[in-house]
Amino acid sequence: MKDKVAIVTGAASGIGKACALAYAREGAKVIVSDIQEKEGKDVANQIISQGGKAKFILCDISKPEQCQHLAAEAVAVFGRLDYACNNAGIGGEQNPTADYSLESWSFVIGINLSGVFYCMKYQIPQMLKSGGGSIVNISSILGSVGFANSPAYVAAKHGVNGLTKTAAQEYGAAGIRINAIGPAFINTPLLKDLPKDMLDTLVTLHPIGRLGESEEVAEMVIWLSSDKSSFVTGAYLPIDGGYLSR
Ligand code: NAD
Repeated sequence: MKDKVAIVTGAASGIGKACALAYAREGAKVIVSDIQEKEGKDVANQIISQGGKAKFILCDISKPEQCQHLAAEAVAVFGRLDYACNNAGIGGEQNPTADYSLESWSFVIGINLSGVFYCMKYQIPQMLKSGGGSIVNISSILGSVGFANSPAYVAAKHGVNGLTKTAAQEYGAAGIRINAIGPAFINTPLLKDLPKDMLDTLVTLHPIGRLGESEEVAEMVIWLSSDKSSFVTGAYLPIDGGYLSR
């Protein structure tokens, strides 16, 4: 990935941080983006201290103008855009559909679904100028099955899969591959508010006998970004320790 440029959203923590570090390890220049400025800058500095190239750019993906700025700045700073990992996302309120607040619905959809649309909308023209590219959208196992008490999250992730397939059809011939991946439960700060007994129960839903690690997800993102996956586009690939096989 030498001389290539990658954007990672939500790169201050968890899966996004692991992806940013993995792109840098592969030689790419990395735009580390998040709403958490200090933690995001720490990730960019970690890459630079290891001899890589990185820059932190503040971006709330629920704001279209900030997503436009993010894609344009990547090109202004590093000259091109080749890869994007649209990863930023939140868990949101836990309540059954009839009790789910209107505010939470708009908030979760605004980040987890509209945010991915805004990112792609502004990344694609920059990639076309660079002669092609690869976008990996971080969906979830909950992009293909339901999960009680998370209606907005589940709807958003199903939506991300639809957006991914549609954009893949639109831009495949122009050299942009667009895929979604579906992690099962991964050991990140996103799960920090879940009670211990619920985490123990979640483990039993993964035939592999444990939760996943961010670095395992990052390896799939790197493969999908790289030319090693040159015939893969419009796909939804679970990375789930067997969760969906049950
Ligand atoms: P995390 O909380 O560790 O990291 C998410 C990052 O996104 C944080 O740094 C946060 O500041 C950032 N973020 C939140 N809202 C944002 C916004 N509006 N704009 C920009 N950045 C924002 O969570 P994670 O587990 O690493 O989750 C990353 C992605 O993986 C999410 O899309 C999540 O839905 C998905 N995912 C996570 C799991 C899991 O079990 N952890 C499973 C499947 C899918």
